[in-house]
Amino acid sequence: MTAVLEVDLDRFARNVAHVRATVAPAALMLVVKDDAYGHGLEQIVRRAWEDGVEWFGAFDVRTGLAVRNLLGTVPRIFVWITTRDELDDALSAHLDIGVGDPALLEEVADAAHRNAARARVHLKVDAGLHRNGVRPEAWRGFVERAAALDAAAVIRVVGVWSHLAEASDEEDEASRAVFDRALAAAADAGLAPEVRHLAASAASFARSEFRYDLVRVGAFCYGIRPTGGPSDDSLGIEPVATLRAPVAHVDEGGVHIGIGALDGLPSLLAGRAEVRTPAGLRRVVTVDDYDSVIEPWPGVGHADAVAVFGPSGTAAASATDLAEATGTIGEEIITRLSPGIPRRYRGEGAGPDG
Ligand SMILES: *Cc1c(COP(=O)(O)O)cnc(C)c1O
Repeated sequence: MTAVLEVDLDRFARNVAHVRATVAPAALMLVVKDDAYGHGLEQIVRRAWEDGVEWFGAFDVRTGLAVRNLLGTVPRIFVWITTRDELDDALSAHLDIGVGDPALLEEVADAAHRNAARARVHLKVDAGLHRNGVRPEAWRGFVERAAALDAAAVIRVVGVWSHLAEASDEEDEASRAVFDRALAAAADAGLAPEVRHLAASAASFARSEFRYDLVRVGAFCYGIRPTGGPSDDSLGIEPVATLRAPVAHVDEGGVHIGIGALDGLPSLLAGRAEVRTPAGLRRVVTVDDYDSVIEPWPGVGHADAVAVFGPSGTAAASATDLAEATGTIGEEIITRLSPGIPRRYRGEGAGPDG
């Protein structure tokens, strides 16, 4: 027996339904980067698609192609990190491409000519994050060039988008003002994008003004709340994944569970976190490379397992609770888990071993 990451697809579906209801009439783009935040791309995108999610945010072309292979030709798949060598693949798989610099726009146009395929692009303005996106002072020229390529049927400008820092309300408001001016300039250039999108999880729940036509949400769909922010209950989401570890052996030091720091558990959990055992909560004593030790409980045996993180009731702590104890974010706790820890699925659509 080894540790297992149990993924409850019904809980995932409830979160997705709750996010969709909250952001409506804006639509949900489910973000599935990093192997669906460590939950496993295939099962996650299949369940979301069955439940009616139409947009997938894949981050890179490789992930976009994987989603296309899994779901077929209909869903919209947005990628926002592309290199020029991937553009032919992106076009032949009908991916929607995020374009945040003028040089990439020209490369996309060249690729569209080469492939005799009209590229679907989403133009990105830098609304203050300074990571990528076209700077506001260069935006007007950029949208005019894009409009010319659109009029020539080389590309189709289907979206205008940006990303928020989510560091403070003031900054996000300032970014929204930049975004609104960028939309107005795009309209002046003659563009009428189908979707405008700015918000990720936190901003999409915070205020309707951030939602526009589409929100790109990852964390909340997986039941990962922001550190230091509102509780799962007040957000109306539940953690989807539970990390369970069976008892490996017991000695005078305590109960060994056979997963450790090199499997992805933060070593800082030692002395700072509790896990749920069959006898209630017990403290994590040490986290070594491939093993961790838990305080013992009466009658502990090999049939027992502990829940390291998961929803309340199942575990003592959620991934975000552990993140708060160790100075990271909930996403990190799950995505850092070794791919060698099997993912096991429960719920509708989970397949024979679900
Ligand atoms: C990761 C990511 C998101 C999703 O963010 P969450 O906080 O997980 O909802 C949205 N947009 C972009 C550009 C991202 O990189």
